[in-house]
Formats: sequence, structure tokens, C-alpha cells
Amino acid sequence: MSNKLAIDGGEPVRDTRLPYGRQSISDEDIEAVSEVLRSDWLTTGPKVSEFERSFAQFVGVSEAVAVSNGTAALHAAMYALEIGPGDEVIVPPITFAASANCVVYQGGMPVFADIDPGTLLLDPERVEDGITPRTKAIVSVDYAGQACDYDALSAIAQSHGLALVDDACHAVGGSYKGRRVGSLADLNTFSFHPVKHITTGEGGAIATDDPKLAERMRVFRNHGITTDHRQREQIGSWFYEMVDLGYNYRLTDIQCALGISQLRKLPAWVERRQEIARTYDVAFADIPAVQPLAVRADVSHAYHLYVVQLDLDRLCVDRAQIFAALRAEGIGVNVHYIPVHMHPFYRKRFGTGPGLCPVAEAAYERIITLPIFSHMGTQDVDDTVAAMRKVVGVYLR
Ligand SMILES: *Cc1c(COP(=O)(O)O)cnc(C)c1O
Repeated sequence: MSNKLAIDGGEPVRDTRLPYGRQSISDEDIEAVSEVLRSDWLTTGPKVSEFERSFAQFVGVSEAVAVSNGTAALHAAMYALEIGPGDEVIVPPITFAASANCVVYQGGMPVFADIDPGTLLLDPERVEDGITPRTKAIVSVDYAGQACDYDALSAIAQSHGLALVDDACHAVGGSYKGRRVGSLADLNTFSFHPVKHITTGEGGAIATDDPKLAERMRVFRNHGITTDHRQREQIGSWFYEMVDLGYNYRLTDIQCALGISQLRKLPAWVERRQEIARTYDVAFADIPAVQPLAVRADVSHAYHLYVVQLDLDRLCVDRAQIFAALRAEGIGVNVHYIPVHMHPFYRKRFGTGPGLCPVAEAAYERIITLPIFSHMGTQDVDDTVAAMRKVVGVYLR
């Protein structure tokens, strides 16, 4: 194959675009969903509690609360912790905006703490720096699927009397020092969007060992009403009370049936993602200017994303050009994420902007996300490596 880049009119590595992530749906999944469609309960029926029990058991906690998406899970967590006006919550900048938006929904203020340049995870020292008398909680994000340093974060939270919330949307199936992600913080939030490890179409959950917080979130997801339709049906009563302002953040039985079926496959899917990551790690070890994110020895990485940092000093083009060239080769690369504090909304509302988190801002210029998903084939992995080798080879300084 010629090394003329597809972006310059050469032949692409592949003809069809490989996505960076994709769901995997089997006949069993479809059958599980069909069964619910033929049943009496389409929503808030037996499948919701079954999914909650299975999920809680999988991550190793006593309670899981299923909600309509990962953002609702974060909102419910902030509500349960009674975050409100005047309160500050520490969040990392390299994450999906929802990790910080949830604080704003409740009238609180997100305070951005910078990250470690190797792992791109929240730096405990920067967390300490961000604490004020108004700080109520820390939201840690297990970016790309690697658990944060929970011994350090828990110690900080404990010594300052703060709640610790793990936005674990990237890390289901991962672990830290042998403990499953989902059991590492006071509240642990998940998303079941199709690009995540397991899907319910849209969906989310909060895992916790605190029954009081779980109960608050169950009321919150149902308009602030203390009983649900099925419970009233069972006791033959029409009476209910709305005790607080909640939302309709419920997940349907149709979705939960899909979630139960998908959850069974999660361990094998995480293993496959780890296997793909190992192949990438080995291949990129001898491609100059391409550095996979650092992985600590005390974690089992769930690899929602496979992210590399480009050594721009060794390249004669920027990340945007590498991105465009890889896309032209048929590799559906992406960038995760634009630092949240750089978005126009945050600049306008909270006066954030360049210079606030220099490590995150510098990392943002260099990161690129490569395809990784459970049923990605060997050829797909080889194509990604070949395209990376080809593109970086041409642009090497
Ligand atoms: C996906 C994701 C969310 C939001 O989940 P939705 O289900 O899309 O609402 C929040 N935080 C992180 C880190 C995510 O990756």
C-alpha cells in the first residue's frame, strides 16, 4: 500500500468508517425486550427492581436507583446531597459537561480542579487547593475507564466533611485495588447510552450503600412523590403525597429488560476492551510521537475510551490535522473532551476561561480518541494501528 495519505488523494486504509464506539445487541436482548412488550408493565414494574438488584450486586453495593439517563443520575446525586445556592462542588475539567452541569441545576457552583498530566484524572493536590468553607462535595470522573485515586480522594473528603460522588459513566466493570467501580464513593453514577459499555437506549443509575440517599433519589425520580403507581395498585389505594419538587426521571421496564440482558455480558466485554487496549499499547510503543494515557498499577481499567496524547513537538502538524487525516483513512477518531470551563456557558456564568486549569488545557491540544468497542474485530484494530502508523509517519518532524 502506498503511503500517500487519503487526505491528499491517496488510497484510504479502509473504505468504510470505523466508529469510535458502538453498541452490541443480540437476539437474546431483543427477546428480553419483546417479552416485556407483551407483559402488563411497560414502566415502573418488576424489571426496574430486578435491574436495580442485579446492578447493585454487580458493582458490590446494597442499592442501585435506575433513572432515565446518566445526567439524571448526576442530578439526582446532587439533589440527594442537598447541593444548593451558595454551595461549591469540585469537578475535573476533562469530562462531559454533565459532570459539572448537575451542580448548576441545583443552583450550586462547580469549582474546576486540574488533572494529572499522565492519566488526565483529578489531581488530589489540586482538589485540596480548591476547597473553601462553601465546598460540599467532590465529583471525581473515572476518565476513559480508569478509576481515580480513591484512597487519596476519600481521605480528603473525610477530613473536610465532604461527600464524594464518582461519575463512573466511563468505568463500569473496572476496579480499584480489587474493589469494583460503583462502590468507591458515597454515590456512584452510571450511563447506559449506546456508546457506553452496556446500553438501555437511554438510561442511568446511581449505586450507593446509603439507603437514605437511595430513598431520596427514588422520590426525586418520580416527581417528588413518595409512592409509585405499582405500589399504590398493590395496596389498592389512590392516596399519594408530593413531598418535594422532583422530576420524571424514571427508566422503563422495556429499557431495564435490555439492561438486565446486557449486564450479563459486561465482564466478557470489558475483557475484550482490555485485550484491544493491550494490542494498541504494544503497537504504539514503537510509533514515535504517540503516547497512550498512563495507567496506574492499582486499577483494572474498563476502557470506555482509548485515548492517546500526541507529542506535538515531534510533529509538523497539529491535532486537528492528524484528526482529519485519520478520518480520511476511515478511522472514526474523536476528541474527549473540550475542557468544560472553556465552554461559552461557563465563561459567561462563572467567569472561567483559559489559564484556570493549565494541565487540562494543554492536554486538550494533544488528545485523540481511537476506536474501541466490545465487538471490534482484529482487522478493525489492525486498520487503526496501520492508519496511525501511516499518518504519523508522514507528519513526523
Ligand atoms: C455519558 C456521560 C454522562 C451523561 O450520560 P447520559 O446518559 O448521556 O446523560 C455523564 N458523564 C460522563 C463522564 C459521561 O461519559
